[in-house]
Amino acid sequence: MAIPLTKIVATLGPASGNKAAIKSLVAKGVNIFRLNLSHGTHETVRQWIHWIREVEEEHHSFVGILLDLQGPKIRVGKFKEGSIHIKKGQKLTFTTEKKIGDESLVPVQYPRFHEEVTKGGKIFLDDGKLSGVVRQVSGQRAEVEILTGGILSDHKGINLPDSKLTADPITSKDKADLKFGVQEGVDMVALSFTGCAKDVRRLKSLIKKHGSPEIEVIAKIERKQAVDNLEEIVEEADGVMVARGDLGIEISLTEVPIVQQRILREGAKHSKPVIVATQMLESMIEHARPTRAEVSDVANAVKDCADAIMLSGETAVGKHAVAAVGVMVETALKIEAYLAETRTVDPMDLFFKDEPDINAGITYSANRMVELLKARAMVVFTHSGGTAKMVASHKPMVPVFAFTPSLHRARLLNLIRGVAPFVVEEDKHLLLHMEQLVIMLKKRRLLKKGDRVVITTGIPVGIPNWTNIIRVEEVP
Ligand code: ATP
Ligand code: MG
Ligand code: MG
Repeated sequence: MAIPLTKIVATLGPASGNKAAIKSLVAKGVNIFRLNLSHGTHETVRQWIHWIREVEEEHHSFVGILLDLQGPKIRVGKFKEGSIHIKKGQKLTFTTEKKIGDESLVPVQYPRFHEEVTKGGKIFLDDGKLSGVVRQVSGQRAEVEILTGGILSDHKGINLPDSKLTADPITSKDKADLKFGVQEGVDMVALSFTGCAKDVRRLKSLIKKHGSPEIEVIAKIERKQAVDNLEEIVEEADGVMVARGDLGIEISLTEVPIVQQRILREGAKHSKPVIVATQMLESMIEHARPTRAEVSDVANAVKDCADAIMLSGETAVGKHAVAAVGVMVETALKIEAYLAETRTVDPMDLFFKDEPDINAGITYSANRMVELLKARAMVVFTHSGGTAKMVASHKPMVPVFAFTPSLHRARLLNLIRGVAPFVVEEDKHLLLHMEQLVIMLKKRRLLKKGDRVVITTGIPVGIPNWTNIIRVEEVP
């Protein structure tokens, strides 16, 4: 079975939160699971994590776990029937009173909602699918006239782009959720509503306080402020997510594709992974086949060399979770084959300063060497992951086999485009065992006789981000 270079992140939810489904998703090609703490309880999520670890072992692969913190997202509460149907022109009451909702009353989970909404302001629901205008605010209640109707179900998000919300991106719920995640050994944490680099630093220091500095932070770009502070956020975070759900409401929808391009480029420039997220195959929540436009969206993200493409509702609550992963895999393979045939130069066109670092020069040249010698793979040895990330940031069209001593590192590397991680013993001097490694890759049918392999590493070994050697081998 061919495996795409582009990685796939899938969100777990009621539709997929069981061992059989997790197994099928991994078998189909999921590399990373996203656990969204906006929805599941600790009990449920803990069980999911255990199942993921079991499946990972049974499948002899690496699966990363990304814990997504809710952040200060405003959400509706629960409805008697789980959802309500709202119509255009209808008046609906939103309230911060602790009540169960019904056809005319929508509970809101954010206690300052009635203080912060403004009369005449727009209100968006469920990533903007439904919308309305606030006509009146009195006490804890706000009257909303619906502009776009539809179905509104439990815990859907609310956006108020016309209101000034100054909530802290790390809430007390997030702190408790983080502690839980660290205890359960997640690999990465996603910071929702990141505003600036300082937010990322704060989350990192909280993670350190819990004694797990190796957990990586993915900053979600979903606010205008984050777009304005993009460079410093990318520098500070370990990766970023183009969180198009909220982003498409906070900034003009037509600007989202441009911002996506900017984020992809910025990520490549700093050798940080970028995840493209939200509504990639949205119609598959209901239907067995996606729309042409959705497949095109996935294809474009692959063509632009995103590290990972993500499924949210499609796998969390969708009727065709495994099929959605299948569509991503097939689309990625098709586009990657096309790219491999047509592309000759560095797609990110990353220009260097007058005198680039040795690391940068080596990893760039290793990529050009692959094209020149028509090599079939790259091999890197990496402790901190830095060498693998730098090699991969030039978006090679061949897999990067990354050997690392740490299981956690292998799981993290599973997010990086093209990187196929392997765990090896720490003290082996791998350059001396190159022949054995190449034979192992051949046995696993990842390489065949006569294939050329470009190897990069740093000597002496063990210095983070140090890469100064390129070597080429031919499979015997
Ligand atoms: P975010 O803003 O962090 O993306 P979201 O509410 O959009 O949060 P997603 O994880 O993107 O949530 O999932 C999309 C939809 O799938 C959600 O609107 C929600 O209705 C549903 N969903 C996701 N996870 C769960 C879950 N664990 N339980 C119930 N519904 C879920
Ligand atoms: Mg979402
Ligand atoms: Mg969000």
